[in-house]
Amino acid sequence: MISCRTGVLGEAIRWARRYMPVKLVFRAKSRIIDNEGDECNGLLVQHKGYMEINILKDLDEGKAIDTLMHELAHAIDIRRRGWGKDHYKQHSDSWGQEYSRIYRDFWEMIGQKKKGSK
Ligand SMILES: [Zn+2]
Repeated sequence: MISCRTGVLGEAIRWARRYMPVKLVFRAKSRIIDNEGDECNGLLVQHKGYMEINILKDLDEGKAIDTLMHELAHAIDIRRRGWGKDHYKQHSDSWGQEYSRIYRDFWEMIGQKKKGSK
């Protein structure tokens, strides 16, 4: 399993928590199953008062970061617009806008850090 405290994934997790407070859980594949019974790389779960992002623990670092951002974009979108009936299934325009915004934001931050450390 990849480390979630160090490296770029560690950065991504700390950065995600600045966007919104989410609980992050790395789970085995059999525990990440969506509404239609498919196994997937990540899943957003709504609890009372907080949201939980589940990420498959066997992913490589790049995929884990992509999955984190994908689910975080759902969480931000849902916080803004509320839960639609089929929200799990929806990769709506508003989700896409959040996803692209945070994706760019994160990689720009990483780029700045790399420049700074040279
Ligand atoms: Zn999705």
